[in-house]
Amino acid sequence: MSTAAFWVLFLAFVAAFAAQVATRVRLIAAAPNNFAVDSLPFRVWRFVRDVLLQVRTIRERPLTGLMHAFVFWGFVAFGGYTTVEFLYGLGIVDLTQTNWFYAYRMALTPFAIGVLVGIVYLLIRRAFVRPIALGDHVSLESIVIALFITTLMVTFLLAFRLEEGTAAGHVNWWVHVLVILAFLALIPASKHFHLVVSPITVFLKSPELGNLPNLDFEKEQVGLETLKDLGSKMVLDAFTCVECGRCQVNCPAWGAGKELNPKKIILQTQDALLAANREKKLGEIYSETVLWQCTTCGACENQCPVGIEHLPIVIGSRRGLVSNGDAPEYLGSMYNNLERRSNIWGLGYDQRTKFVQAAGLETFDAAKHDVLVWLGCAGSFDADFQKSLRSLFDILRARGVRFGVLSKEKCNGDPAKRTGNEYMYQELATGNIEDLKAAAPKKILTSCPHCVKTIGQDYVKFGYQVEVVHSSVFVEELTREVARSAKAEDARGAKASVEREVVTFHDPCYLGRYAGKVDEPRELLARFGADIKEPVRNRDNPYCCGAGGGLLFADKEEEPGSRISDVRFKQLRDTGANTVVTACPFCSIMLKGAQASAQVDTQFVDLMTYVNGKLQGRGQ
Ligand code: SF4
Ligand code: SF4
Repeated sequence: MSTAAFWVLFLAFVAAFAAQVATRVRLIAAAPNNFAVDSLPFRVWRFVRDVLLQVRTIRERPLTGLMHAFVFWGFVAFGGYTTVEFLYGLGIVDLTQTNWFYAYRMALTPFAIGVLVGIVYLLIRRAFVRPIALGDHVSLESIVIALFITTLMVTFLLAFRLEEGTAAGHVNWWVHVLVILAFLALIPASKHFHLVVSPITVFLKSPELGNLPNLDFEKEQVGLETLKDLGSKMVLDAFTCVECGRCQVNCPAWGAGKELNPKKIILQTQDALLAANREKKLGEIYSETVLWQCTTCGACENQCPVGIEHLPIVIGSRRGLVSNGDAPEYLGSMYNNLERRSNIWGLGYDQRTKFVQAAGLETFDAAKHDVLVWLGCAGSFDADFQKSLRSLFDILRARGVRFGVLSKEKCNGDPAKRTGNEYMYQELATGNIEDLKAAAPKKILTSCPHCVKTIGQDYVKFGYQVEVVHSSVFVEELTREVARSAKAEDARGAKASVEREVVTFHDPCYLGRYAGKVDEPRELLARFGADIKEPVRNRDNPYCCGAGGGLLFADKEEEPGSRISDVRFKQLRDTGANTVVTACPFCSIMLKGAQASAQVDTQFVDLMTYVNGKLQGRGQ
């Protein structure tokens, strides 16, 4: 075939590619712009780590991730080769006979072998092993793409063996370039479009997990109601999904047999966008039931290898529903409690005052105190959690930490924010910020991971910035001398015999995943005589207790599937440890509820109570 024929084929396939890409670009451009490039150094570092080095992909699924990385690295390495072959085919310039191109071809050989090994592995996995995350049917398109990539590598390697200018050499060359062109035309409409867009999506992903910018009521923002309200990053996300199912298999709601599947949410967004009815209500696309099943645990977007953010869509849609008065009934009573009494249980603040007095707590004074202890709703009203706080106070006093509390506290607003009641969240948050500004603490200490996230990260969006530390982190630092003296005793051969006990630790999502604090609780437990039996799903990828996103208040009897807390409780039981240590009041409530249903004998201990018990046992 002539150069002219090659031009015709080239232009036809490129036009097919461009038309499909243009549709997607138009949809992204039509969406309200919510692209952000703040925290540039972090974004560049994450791009190098997760795109160029494929660290996230390999870390989560080592063998499959490595095979995928071989294909990706080969794809990048072959970019120059493909360009040179096309320049030659189009008659623009012939660089194929240069020495450097010969050397480059030789250097590509190990990449070609790597791609072949990788793609055959992925093909077998997809066609025969078929893990549940990939869906219940074999995608024909994936098989075709895998065969295309195999053909490209085989024809590349064959070119070394075939004489140039022979018929076999010609056929081999044409098969190679025609497969590239067919590949080009196929990818925009397939999940392989992620090859083109995922580097951009990863770069644009917010550095903050579960990033939910405040709504601006002056601009009449009410959240996401219809397809046209989705921001540009959300639309880009919808076209980036590689359908790997990592979000799905890590979602606790899906794991407990509920309807919610975060992968489906992204694919439904994609289908709806391409169907081009921009007025369609989001509640009709995803179903309202599904939107209220999310615990906001963050596992989906944390696990996604291509930078997709699910929570802005889920919570944005909840905002839209709440603004139309479509929140579930159980939230109605919680909102009522927040509105009337500024706490989730609707209890009178005299109860908090009684606790504050009984625990001998002083009102915070920046000139006198080192830290402000934030009690939170649970600390103010939940008798069980107040025991944990008393333990924390004992530890602080024994180590001479000067602390105080606010004379009044409102709920930090997390349950309102994560359920989409942005107006109520902003009322609570701005009220608290006013009080905090007046008190002017340099550091806030709290035992509630939700308070860490909300006060430490969400309040920054109102311009209020303060260091917020979880008690596990603070107390770990505070008790390091215990570890040092144990080491010194060890060195002298005079180590006191410390009775060890087997426990399991449940990482709260808002501590392990959101705040990344996974070592400090373990360090504390080990320091004070615990041998930890890790449950499945631990550290920065825990399985949620089921309380987040307002689901603490949902009627568990009404829920389809199992209860998330029951699933987690079973995982903790399966470790064989009879003691479960928790570090979040809401995890504790949920898991104790699961224990009561299971009617088994498991001991629950809050981390601070555990540590204080051991310290007092040692007379420290
Ligand atoms: S945040 Fe958690 S519960 Fe919600 S969709 Fe993602 S994984 Fe599922
Ligand atoms: S949203 Fe991300 S994790 Fe989920 S299937 Fe798509 S690419 Fe995979």
